[in-house]
Amino acid sequence: MSVVTVPSLTHQFAADLPELAVAWSAEPVTEPQLLVLNEAVARDLGLDPDWLQGPDGRQFLVGGLIPDGATPVAQGYAGHQFGGFSPRLGDGRALLLGELTAPDGRVRDLHLKGSGRTPFARGGDGFAVIGPMLREYVISEAMAALGVPTTRSLAVTATGRPVRRETILPGAVLTRSAASHLRVGSVQYARAISDHTEDLDLLRRLVDHAIVRHHPHAADADRPALALYEAVVAAQASLVAHWMLIGFVHGVMNTDNMTLSGETIDYGPCAFLTVFDPATVYSSIDTGGRYAYGNQPVVAEWNLARLAEALLPLIDENSDRAVELAVGVLETFRPRYSAAWLAGMRDKLGLPAGLADEVAAALCTDLTDLLQANHVDYTAFFRRLGRAARGESEPVRELVLDLAAIDAWLDRWRATGPDGDRMDRVNPAYVPRNHLVEEALAAATDGDLQPLGTLLDAIGDPFTERPGFERYAEPAASDYGTYTTFC
Ligand code: AMP
Ligand code: MG
Ligand code: MG
Repeated sequence: MSVVTVPSLTHQFAADLPELAVAWSAEPVTEPQLLVLNEAVARDLGLDPDWLQGPDGRQFLVGGLIPDGATPVAQGYAGHQFGGFSPRLGDGRALLLGELTAPDGRVRDLHLKGSGRTPFARGGDGFAVIGPMLREYVISEAMAALGVPTTRSLAVTATGRPVRRETILPGAVLTRSAASHLRVGSVQYARAISDHTEDLDLLRRLVDHAIVRHHPHAADADRPALALYEAVVAAQASLVAHWMLIGFVHGVMNTDNMTLSGETIDYGPCAFLTVFDPATVYSSIDTGGRYAYGNQPVVAEWNLARLAEALLPLIDENSDRAVELAVGVLETFRPRYSAAWLAGMRDKLGLPAGLADEVAAALCTDLTDLLQANHVDYTAFFRRLGRAARGESEPVRELVLDLAAIDAWLDRWRATGPDGDRMDRVNPAYVPRNHLVEEALAAATDGDLQPLGTLLDAIGDPFTERPGFERYAEPAASDYGTYTTFC
C-alpha cells in the first residue's frame, strides 16, 4: 500500500458549480489535539496515519494546512426543514476541503465540520463541540461496519476553544469523507437560482456533475435528469430499508440531509432503537414525530418528491409530461423499498429462499406486532433468535412477556427451517446503544478516552461476539429512562 504525505486535492465541485461554492477558510487552531484518528479510513484514502498525527497532519485535519492547489469552500444548498422550505441554508459551520482520489480510484470529498462561521452561518457560531462530533464518529463507523452506505469519519480533533452551548463546552472539528456532499437541497438551491436567472444552465451543470460522480450510466439515457432521479430513488429506497432493518433512527431527515449518492449523512440527533416501536423519536426538536422510526420510508418518499419538483424543467420541456414521467419514477419507491426490506428481513430471520414471499411477509408482520406489544429490545431479539435457530430458545423467550404468543410464532418460524449462521451475519450483537454512547461521550468530554475506545472496538466488528464485550450486547438497565438527543 502506497501512502503519500501531503495529500493532493482537486476542486471539481467548485470548478463546475461556482454558484454553489464560496471560497472560505477555517478558523485557525493553534494547538489541535487528536481525540480519535481512523487509521483504516486514512489508509483507504491513501493518507499516512503517522503524518496525520504529526503537527502538519493535525493542522491539515482542522483546515489550517491547505495542500497546494486546493480551494476550501462552503457549499450552498437549500432545504425543507420539518416540512418548511428554507431557500438558503448551506454550510454554516463546515467546509469542503476538496476531493481526494483514493488509491482504489474512488473520488471522495474531504470535509470539515465545526471549522468556524461561514457566510451561511446565519445566527450560528460556526463551531461544534466534542460530544456531538464524537457521536457522528461513533455512529457513522458503526453504520459502515454494519454494511450501511455512509459518510466516513477520519478524525475528531479538539480545538482547545471554549464553545458556548447550554454551558461552556470544549470545541472540536470532525474531518469526514463522503462520496460527495451533494444533497436534495443542493438541487433545490440550484433550481431556485435557475428560476431567478431564467436560465437552466446551473441546474444542468449540477445534474451533469452528479451524474459523472455518482450515476455515470445516466449520461447515456434518453433523459439523463430522469435517469439520475431514478438512480437516487433506487439508492434511497435501499438505504432507508437498511436503516429500518438495523433499527436506525436518523432523526433529522430534512432534504438538506439527504444525499444524491445514497450515503447516510449528517449524524445529529440520530440513535438506534432500543425496544421496537415505530413511534420512536429521540430528537429533542422533533416534537411532532415527523422523523419517527416508522415514518422514515414515507419521509424519504416525500423528500424524493421535492427532488423531482426541482428537476422537472430538465425532465421535459412540457411540464405536464415532466410531472407524468417523474411520478412514474417516484411510484417505484414503494415497491423498491418493500422488496429491499423483505429481502433483508428474510436474512434476519434466516428464511430459506424457497419460502413464498407471502408466508415470509406474514411472519414479519406478526413478529413486529409481537415485538411492539411486548416492548422487546430490537437488536437483542434478532441476535438471540439466531441461537433459537440452533435449538437454544430460552435467551430469546426471556425477552418476551407473552410467552404463549412468542412460542406460537417460534413454532411457525422454526417449521420453515431457519439458518442461524446466516442470521448471525446480518443481526449485529453490538450497535452503539444509547447509554453506552452517552457514557463514552461524557467521559471523552472530561478527558477520558478509554470508554470511547472500547465502544469503537465493539461496534467496529458488530457480528462477532467476543468475551469482554458482554455489556455492549445488553439493553440498558430498566431504570435508564427516556433517551433524548440534541443536535
Ligand atoms: P443540520 O440540521 O445539522 O443539518 O444543520 C442545518 C443548518 O444549520 C446547516 O445549514 C448548518 O450548516 C447550520 N448550522 C448548524 N449548527 C450551526 C452552527 N453552530 N453554526 C453555524 N451554522 C450551523
Ligand atoms: Mg445538515
Ligand atoms: Mg447536523
